[in-house]
Amino acid sequence: DSTILSSAQGEKIFVAVRLRPLDDKEIARNEASEWECINNTTIMHNKEIPEKSMLPTTYVFDKVFACESSTKEVYEDGLKNVALSVVTGINTSIFAYGQTSSGKTYTMRGISEYAMADIFDYVHEHDEREFVLKFSAIEIYNESVRDLLGMDSTPLRLLDDPERGTVVEKLTEVTVRDWSHLKELMAICEAERQIGETSLNATSSRSHQIIRLTVESYAQDFSSADDLSSLAASVSFVDLAGSERSSQTLAVGSRLKEGSHINRSLLTLGTVIRKLRHVPFRDSKLTRILQNSLGGNARTAIICTMSPAHCHAEQSRNTLLFAACAK
Ligand code: ADP
Ligand code: MG
Repeated sequence: DSTILSSAQGEKIFVAVRLRPLDDKEIARNEASEWECINNTTIMHNKEIPEKSMLPTTYVFDKVFACESSTKEVYEDGLKNVALSVVTGINTSIFAYGQTSSGKTYTMRGISEYAMADIFDYVHEHDEREFVLKFSAIEIYNESVRDLLGMDSTPLRLLDDPERGTVVEKLTEVTVRDWSHLKELMAICEAERQIGETSLNATSSRSHQIIRLTVESYAQDFSSADDLSSLAASVSFVDLAGSERSSQTLAVGSRLKEGSHINRSLLTLGTVIRKLRHVPFRDSKLTRILQNSLGGNARTAIICTMSPAHCHAEQSRNTLLFAACAK
């Protein structure tokens, strides 16, 4: 009697859902979790919903993480494989999607750190190749691209490079010396993003952040030179703007009255992910910048974060519907 929306399996896009624990305020209000993780691929809405609504109560994804799951588990159980394929020359991107306060930043910070640590380990274990790691970070707010490692806050332009596709002009790209250097760079981005937050009134809920590590490698032994003599690819960690505005419009159809850029980015991303054939990459800066990391030969993972609270139930459902469409 309950409708089951199944989105598990499939190769190109890995879609996972993570339910965060109730926070202190929610507990103080006596909220109980509206959602139940039945097993590691299935999540169920445990509240009666009107039968007429036709909304699914049960959703199946590649992975579902209950509130007890650690970020390490979320990482190990699916995202690690995606992230690490960058060392074999495959462009990859990992997104966190969800409403504000659902745990996107919390999840992405952990994931990016675990992934980068594993990439470093890989580099150390493979001294038959020479590796060059480059780090960059941007924030997209209102279709304006800001360099999180840049000297000034002038918006950056996007250029179409015949060979490399869309590139962010004048973007600071730092060659990473070692692990502590990388941690330093991540801390700078973090601080920079928080500065933006206070001056622009909590823009983090309205901006997308992309942290990108480019991995280039060269065979040391040129006598065995083949297709693998040089490889280059990047892994992008994308902490998306809060989905609340866009998903509201998704839920009520074409009421794009807000006309905001977040809408455009998230809707375009949704469309891009859904279609992956004739894709409207050019419709937003987010998808233009990530064009090489989406579809084609790229690998993509989306971790959809959601709050268990009753007051967020509608947004949580929208997040699940987005996640279901992503497959
Ligand atoms: P978002 O980036 O989606 O707006 P945050 O990542 O900032 O949300 O999370 C909101 C709050 O909830 C933060 O205080 C964060 O530490 C906490 N939180 C999020 N996810 C978890 C989790 N899985 N376990 C514990 N605390 C979490
Ligand atoms: Mg956040």
